Amino acid sequence: MRVAVIGAGIVGVTSAYELAADGHEVTVFERRGSVAAEASFANAGVVAPGHVAPWATPGLPWQVMSQLFRKHAGLRVSPSLGTSGLRWVWRSWRASSPHSYRSNRARLQRLARYSKERLNHLTKTLQLDYERADGYLVLLRSAQDASKAQASLAMLTDAGVRFQLLDAEHCRRVEPGLNPEAELHAGIHLAQDEVGNCRQFALLLREQAERLGATFRFNTTVQSIEPGKTPRVTKVYAPMEESTWLNPDAVKLEGPPTDVLPFEPETESFDAVVVCAALGAADLLRPHGIKLPLAPVYGYSVTAPLRNLHIHPDVGPRAAVLDERYKVAVSRFGTRLRVSGSAELGGTLQRNNEASLNTLYKVLNDWFPGAAHMSQAQVWKGARPTLPDGPPVLGASGIAGVWLNLGHGANGWALACGSGRVLADAIGGRAASIDVEGLGVERLHL
Ligand SMILES: Cc1cc2nc3c(=O)[nH]c(=O)nc-3n(C[C@H](O)[C@H](O)[C@H](O)COP(=O)(O)OP(=O)(O)OC[C@H]3O[C@@H](n4cnc5c(N)ncnc54)[C@H](O)[C@@H]3O)c2cc1C
Repeated sequence: MRVAVIGAGIVGVTSAYELAADGHEVTVFERRGSVAAEASFANAGVVAPGHVAPWATPGLPWQVMSQLFRKHAGLRVSPSLGTSGLRWVWRSWRASSPHSYRSNRARLQRLARYSKERLNHLTKTLQLDYERADGYLVLLRSAQDASKAQASLAMLTDAGVRFQLLDAEHCRRVEPGLNPEAELHAGIHLAQDEVGNCRQFALLLREQAERLGATFRFNTTVQSIEPGKTPRVTKVYAPMEESTWLNPDAVKLEGPPTDVLPFEPETESFDAVVVCAALGAADLLRPHGIKLPLAPVYGYSVTAPLRNLHIHPDVGPRAAVLDERYKVAVSRFGTRLRVSGSAELGGTLQRNNEASLNTLYKVLNDWFPGAAHMSQAQVWKGARPTLPDGPPVLGASGIAGVWLNLGHGANGWALACGSGRVLADAIGGRAASIDVEGLGVERLHL
């Protein structure tokens, strides 16, 4: 089949690879100049299936209220949320009953476990090297934090996740770079979990997809989709401004030379179209009656080279740690560290909230003071493409020839490899290897 994939974030790239591996003729359209240039660009890189959970947790309104006036809050709501934002919060709140939360968490964790297996399989068979490391340590600063974490521990046990509860001394053995003076009560160690550079993986998997015959067309914005037995996409070559992105790695721009402007929109037919356009999907699907309740949940990361690695090999984290109180992760990527976190509803991608960044700096300074060259730090703000109930939408769209793989929220890297495989199986008419109940678009009652 001739298949078009719209969007080359981590989800589009894994979908393209799996489809090409099944023998389809794949063309990927991406409006930016490279793969993984939006939400997949500089995330925390954590792949921890037991920790994958919906944003809509029981007690959500209380959590929002309790963080409103805190200096260092993991969650921030902008006063300029607007009616669509408020509607999204309302839908989230409705999905946060204990019953809905448990069902959605089970759906997410099933997909995340499968995804990790698929990630590990691809890494091994294709020999992909993307700055990965094993292990994830959740840091509990105080006895109070530890008692609040009891509910998470019960969930991990329920889900059959293997973990160890460690005292402070053991935590410091697992992560010797932790500040010996920082207040640390205990930690939850998930040795099976891992951290890896999502963007680097996307770059490598793109090459593998191309080896299998897939074509990537960058700087190409899909303007519309015409559903049908042979669905059509109308797209235009239009290079976008990349300068607003502070890139830890240089982004290579690709595409035809700009001196042949202006470019006219062109229409092309396929046998199937897969929408992996994250937040860009809403505009493409609305004309066909699919009103996706997607919201950007903003977060930040700061990436910096580690200091004096040759003298102190234990500087910075060995893999990834999460400060449970502030929900901020510090991850290792080769010779760099990255501190990431914050969840902001409302605001814009272009404008940073200094208070959120200050929380990241505080956590980094508490746990790994002086570990990185902060004068060379690169700040990034990304938008998690989030549906109000948590799981992504995966499978047939209900309109002829159009398939969906989007809305992966805070866990797109952890879910991408499994989502790509499930999608390719569905297009190929095969049953998925996991139960995909509750991942379809029909659950959103559009
Ligand atoms: C601070 C932060 C930390 C995070 N940490 C983690 C983590 O530790 N673990 C984890 O699993 N997840 C994490 N995430 C979430 C994860 O990064 C996202 O879920 C994931 O990147 C989403 O991937 P995607 O491919 O769906 O979206 P994107 O990467 O945004 O890709 C969508 C692509 O579609 C393109 N596009 C859109 N519209 C069009 C159009 N009309 N035509 C052509 N192209 C189009 C866009 O340009 C974009 O490249 C984090 C996110 C943030 C912000």
